[in-house]
Amino acid sequence: MAIISTEAIVLRSIDHRETSKLAFFFTRSHGRVIGVLKGIRKDSRKFHTSLDKLTVNDIVFYQYRNSDIHLVSHCDMKEYFPGVRQDMKRITAGEYACELVNKIMPLEEKNEKVYELLLNYCHALGRVRDIGRLVHMFQIKVLSLSGFQPHIDSCVQCGGDVRARAKFSTFKGGLVCPRCQRQGMALMAVSPGAVASVLYVGQHSWDQCLKLVLTPGVKRELKQILNNFLIYHLEKNIKSGKYLD
Ligand SMILES: [Zn+2]
Repeated sequence: MAIISTEAIVLRSIDHRETSKLAFFFTRSHGRVIGVLKGIRKDSRKFHTSLDKLTVNDIVFYQYRNSDIHLVSHCDMKEYFPGVRQDMKRITAGEYACELVNKIMPLEEKNEKVYELLLNYCHALGRVRDIGRLVHMFQIKVLSLSGFQPHIDSCVQCGGDVRARAKFSTFKGGLVCPRCQRQGMALMAVSPGAVASVLYVGQHSWDQCLKLVLTPGVKRELKQILNNFLIYHLEKNIKSGKYLD
């Protein structure tokens, strides 16, 4: 057993037994971690946290080798992001990111880039006007950092050029060039602008991406392609995603 002290973002929390709660954290040092906070519902002063989604906490937990659930001895909230909680759209976009990370990331595998991404997303979500664009940027980045990114820089089938008339196949996970397109394939038309946006976000820093402007048409395409892709490849429907536009 090891005692771990780290920074953690709350993805979800649920009641557990009589007086405890289970918290699903994304931690800086150990990736996704499930912890039990014993007695938190009986004595709210025991921990200095609300365990609200998208709050940053300093936590200490006992990492057991034979269990996925670890005992959390300290959990002190240090960032609450009040701007994220000011309207339903921001709250929903926050919940969506939590749900996506909770489903896409494996347990207890350190991924500091995803941690930083989630932190940057929390900061931006409280102040940007175009929330839909932010969600798409988050989707593209988290897919690329977790190794699930769609294949769009060449044909997913033959590796050939995809600059003209390529279409997107959710099933194959990428673009299919005109030569490889067959009757009966479920294909979605995708504009060069949408492809360029996905490539740009995958290759540039978060701050550079925040300056990217997406037209309403490209946003519509990204919404359809990314949501279908995530649902299909995670084989799980991201529930809060359907409320986003
Ligand atoms: Zn091809």
